[in-house]
Amino acid sequence: SGKWARAVAILKEFEDKCGTPIGKLRQIADAMTVEMHAGLASEGGSKLKMLISFVDNLPTGNEKGLFYALDLGGTNFRVLRVLLGGKESGVVKQESEEVSIPEHLMIGSSHELFDFIAAALAKFVATEGEGLHVSPGKQRELGFTFSFPVRQTSLSSGNLIKWTKGFSIEDAVGEDVVGELTKAMERIGLDMRVSALVNDTIGTLAGGRYHHQDVIAAVILGTGTNAAYVERAHAIPKWQGLLPKSGEMASILQILVINMEWGNFRSSHLPLTEYDQALDDESKNPGEQIFEKAISGMYLGEIVRRVLYRMAEEAAFFGDTVPPKLKIPYILRTPDMSAMHHDTSSDLKVVGNKLKDILEISNTSLKMRKVIVEVCDIVATRGARLSAAAIVGILKKLGRDTVRDGEKQKSVIALDGGLFEHYKKFSGCMKSTVKELLGEEVAENIVIEHFDDGSGIGAALLAASHSQYL
Ligand code: ADP
Ligand code: MG
Repeated sequence: SGKWARAVAILKEFEDKCGTPIGKLRQIADAMTVEMHAGLASEGGSKLKMLISFVDNLPTGNEKGLFYALDLGGTNFRVLRVLLGGKESGVVKQESEEVSIPEHLMIGSSHELFDFIAAALAKFVATEGEGLHVSPGKQRELGFTFSFPVRQTSLSSGNLIKWTKGFSIEDAVGEDVVGELTKAMERIGLDMRVSALVNDTIGTLAGGRYHHQDVIAAVILGTGTNAAYVERAHAIPKWQGLLPKSGEMASILQILVINMEWGNFRSSHLPLTEYDQALDDESKNPGEQIFEKAISGMYLGEIVRRVLYRMAEEAAFFGDTVPPKLKIPYILRTPDMSAMHHDTSSDLKVVGNKLKDILEISNTSLKMRKVIVEVCDIVATRGARLSAAAIVGILKKLGRDTVRDGEKQKSVIALDGGLFEHYKKFSGCMKSTVKELLGEEVAENIVIEHFDDGSGIGAALLAASHSQYL
């Protein structure tokens, strides 16, 4: 019928606009490299902030002792402790606990939030078992992964710039989050020192480096997306400018960890559609985080919903009226999209059930379900291939996108985040696209590895490598 033809036309047009042929991906990788240079050249020189972290040494594997970490970045936070045994024994023991943050605390006062966190931490500390104690006379040390925008003032202090991801606690904005946490710990008599304040990319980089000395970058693909990598000080003009003349020699050998804030990347080469434009316009941060909005877990399901909505409205895809639930923004979450995309049953039962349970659409034909899987595939494939191009952009910046003189230097990229971990078609496509972009020979030396819980453990490791007792 005419309606079916119209639906197929919408699908085909969407597919065309989302196209990521290899030539386009190369342009995007190049654009990423160019923006990295620009962001390193001067403050505000690029959409990429390329923030210089205060992390000046990464874990080596020699770290010893008991260290704590706190990972706050979404609706849950995690407390963990690791016992490090040095070169021979590595991580001797690791324990963690996840605590969900009551919603009223996400929009309450700073005092209340940090009291809640300190109390959870104290409760966890109280469960220290046999052999899990710091040496007598020493203070417990903590690495704090805080995945909100912070203007860092030292490795262990930084002021909150703004909240994201549903948090809105006015009196914390502009405050030093380590100071707030420290005061809360003092209020309940918990003797603990915050040794490192990092974001999740830097935590993941540190966690990855502990296991693998060849880790050169970390990428988060979760609710949002971001990346960090190791840069040579002499390649950072904006940092050189801050140095006294006498510092120049020393800086040649120095490495710095750069938090790219790549979610804010944008380029005219990005294959964006009218659906992306509308999603951005109606978002809480229009015009910002354009790359993130095309590839990360918070948004993929929403893009799918928008396409289905158009089909419902213009092609009566689900019948004469638009199903009311389909009008609700963010109702279709990325884990549900992923479940539909991975449906291997011959009648696409999972797709049928998701449509019924989430969107209250029943009686879908197999033909319709196949179209829906196709939409999921287009959105996930574009996101995965764009992530791959961005990673290749980092490799290009570091000159690791070619094999020189038969050199077999490994480059390991540490990945973390729920999207990469659980959305197998996404992570599979991302990895194969990196190969496609680099070619077999170079790709042999590139390892993309998932480090589970990398950001939490990484923060504990950074507390260790920046311990006050070294
Ligand atoms: P955060 O990024 O908030 O720190 P995570 O790294 O745990 O948290 O990532 C959570 C995100 O991962 C979710 O918002 C969701 O988008 C995505 N995700 C979780 N499970 C799945 C899944 N099964 N399939 C696809 N995406 C998933
Ligand atoms: Mg996280």
